[in-house]
Amino acid sequence: MSQIRKKWLETVLKYKFNHDKPGSPTIWSPDLEKISRERIKEIQSEKLSVAFDYLYEESQYYQEKFKQAKLKPQDIQSVEDLHKVPVTTKQEWLVNQTDNPPWGNFSPLSHKRWTTDGWMMFTTSGTTTVLPRVFRHTQHDLKMWAWLGARALWAMGVRPGDVVINCADYGPAVAFWCLHYAMSLVGCPVIPCGGMNVQRRAFFINTYKPTVLLCTPSYALYLGRTMHDLEYPTENSSIRIIITAGEPGPGIPSTKNRIEGLWGAKLHDDFGCTEVAMTPLGYTCEDEVNSVENPVNVHLMEDAYIPEVLNPDTLEPVREGERGILVVSNLFSEAQPILRYMMGDWTSITREPCACGRTHARALGGLHGRPDDMIKIQGLAFFPSTIEDSVRKDPELGDEFRVELSKVGDMDRVKIIVEPKSAIPKSSYIDPREKIQEKLKGLLGVDVQVELVPYGTLPRTQFKSKRVFDMREQCY
Ligand SMILES: [Zn+2]
Repeated sequence: MSQIRKKWLETVLKYKFNHDKPGSPTIWSPDLEKISRERIKEIQSEKLSVAFDYLYEESQYYQEKFKQAKLKPQDIQSVEDLHKVPVTTKQEWLVNQTDNPPWGNFSPLSHKRWTTDGWMMFTTSGTTTVLPRVFRHTQHDLKMWAWLGARALWAMGVRPGDVVINCADYGPAVAFWCLHYAMSLVGCPVIPCGGMNVQRRAFFINTYKPTVLLCTPSYALYLGRTMHDLEYPTENSSIRIIITAGEPGPGIPSTKNRIEGLWGAKLHDDFGCTEVAMTPLGYTCEDEVNSVENPVNVHLMEDAYIPEVLNPDTLEPVREGERGILVVSNLFSEAQPILRYMMGDWTSITREPCACGRTHARALGGLHGRPDDMIKIQGLAFFPSTIEDSVRKDPELGDEFRVELSKVGDMDRVKIIVEPKSAIPKSSYIDPREKIQEKLKGLLGVDVQVELVPYGTLPRTQFKSKRVFDMREQCY
């Protein structure tokens, strides 16, 4: 083992407090999560400094990038120096992997280490690119994922005695694997439900009485409605906590209200990304979720990551509370200690301590999407979550919707397709189209056409839902 790698590993493990059990009834690692802002900065600086040297020595991609930026080993000593490191984008990653198949040369992981100490290979879901990007992780990473995931689960209120049903398909996506191993560390058994249809999963919940449900927000609604259709109880089911990942969920007030109302359970968020934040970079605590103020704020795990909020044009930091885009550095991964990765999510943060006692920064109102997801029309831009919140706020409408963007002449057109709520009989149904049209025009600033289709017409999906279809290119 090289001296640099040894020092990096020792530093990461030095701060792995409470590695096998919680340090308090409410906070897993109080000496990491409840410390002063100064102490957080000191820990980040110590980890960043060795991560930079580790990448300089063992990642070909970063060595070239650092040299181009005229950086030398040991040039980065603290978080104050982080701005000197150039940002890494998804586009760079794609080019690098295409030029250096099949893995790219980002990772410090050698072939020998991968084949003797490797754990799993993951891929992105490929929502914006045809080819997925691939990521290999090691046994060290597995242990870190479980520990960091357990800390987030503890904040959500998961405890020994809970039984978890994991409705992910157990494919090569990171979030639900992390939670799977984290549950084991907390001491909770897992019922894996990969490869099952929605009716089978509903049957499992009704029969085996798990208390924690893992899935996407879209799927929590679909599964709950299916339970209802099968005449299984939902509000009085065994489920008391629902943890969602892959889409914005608890941060959209009407989605949170619908899921919590449907299940009689609390909805929590696990936020990350495959490239840099494979464990919950963002997670909700019980105090945030129980608060009557919506939307909830999301804790950022700052001893494991350095989150920065930057102005998208200048890449300079914005002031606390101002909106900007999220750039993240990973301080613990052996395979991907990526520095300053442009996650790109729009957010603003506060460093005020939370009511739960944690002192790490929080993303105000959660994280609502990446620039790739933004809808741009007639010079305006908005996230699909604005439409989602509006549709789900309406008690006469179903959970699903679809956005179609097209062009007529030079004009962009927006059509929103919605469904009625199944429980409302057709005879007493009041056509909501005009009302929704007016509401969305006020919110988005553009004319919107609303189409109502019969309940059950729009597709329900297991993982990330595709609800926006841009047909403008085809219109020329
Ligand atoms: Zn909190």
